[in-house]
Amino acid sequence: MLRIQNLTKSFDNKQVVSSVSFSVGEEEIFALVGPSGCGKTTILRLIAGLEQADSGRIDLMGNCLSEKKHVVPPEKRNIGFVFQDYALFPHLTVIENVAFGLKNLPKTKRIKKAEDLLEMVQLSDMRHRRTHDLSGGEQQRVALVRSIAPNPKLILLDEPFSSLDAELRESTRLEVHQLLKSVNMSAILVTHDQEEALSFSDQLAVMSEGRIEQIGPPEPIYRSPKTYFVSNFLGKSNIIDGIANGCQVKTKFGYLQITAESFGPVHVSIRPEHFVMKKPNDGYVGTICKRDFKGHDITYQVEFEEYHCFVQTPYDCPFQVGQHVELQAIEAAVVIPKGKVSG
Ligand code: ATP
Repeated sequence: MLRIQNLTKSFDNKQVVSSVSFSVGEEEIFALVGPSGCGKTTILRLIAGLEQADSGRIDLMGNCLSEKKHVVPPEKRNIGFVFQDYALFPHLTVIENVAFGLKNLPKTKRIKKAEDLLEMVQLSDMRHRRTHDLSGGEQQRVALVRSIAPNPKLILLDEPFSSLDAELRESTRLEVHQLLKSVNMSAILVTHDQEEALSFSDQLAVMSEGRIEQIGPPEPIYRSPKTYFVSNFLGKSNIIDGIANGCQVKTKFGYLQITAESFGPVHVSIRPEHFVMKKPNDGYVGTICKRDFKGHDITYQVEFEEYHCFVQTPYDCPFQVGQHVELQAIEAAVVIPKGKVSG
């Protein structure tokens, strides 16, 4: 339904979005994830029409919104925008905020629609309150239903949960996800929080320095990162040098199976949770140099010569700092071509 082709944008002669292309399907939640300053918000603003691209094309439901000589103004794009700071109107009540974008409806229909939406996010009881009396999570839900109210074709969410504390962020994220799915809304979420992108989206694009490094559904991207940057940005990863010999690679702490046949010097990526630790037997022996107990799991660092390998175990793993251990991989490692190392 949304198609972005070769979008490019510079500020002050510095390219901040470089030839970005992606598509968002009907009812799909798409996440743009990447570190601060990589160009995510600029892409949202280009889609909303708040910035104009230097080149490239944006189509929504078959209609061109932006190309070189044709730019549809923001108010004619039929796109909703939820900002990080909610941008609610402080002088209006909750229900007046939600009804604000429905001026084309008669008053009774406008109020009924706003009431129905507030009911969906369990905020009916607060409809006559001013928005500054609401908690951060409640304000965020009001902002979301306000942007959904005029039935836009697409909703853009710019770091919508970042000002909430950890617990509220998780519950609000779940509620917003359910709401978007229940109204069959397509959405683009911008976030620098990899866990949020993985849990919230149907498809995600990992960005670095204005470019998309990898696009796909969260699980395959997490399991098979194609670049050094992606494997490190989406969760923790061990990136290891080795010599591949077909379906195996020889590394500093033993042989690992690899997902694609390779030969010669390679980098491989393997997640900390894809190792188990064992007492030394007949393999390569490392020494535990760090044990970080985090409640539901433990992250170890195991030293093999100068290389530190991260291993994540369940909370009850008994090994302690100073003990010698062997590592056994329970998943194949992913080969990252040397030429693709970018971080
Ligand atoms: P964050 O997560 O911190 O919001 P981001 O990935 O969304 O980052 P953008 O806000 O898109 O990144 O900014 C990308 C780059 O473009 C940054 O270096 C930023 O300073 C620059 N930039 C954005 N808007 C403008 C502007 N209007 N004028 C000049 N530079 C800008």
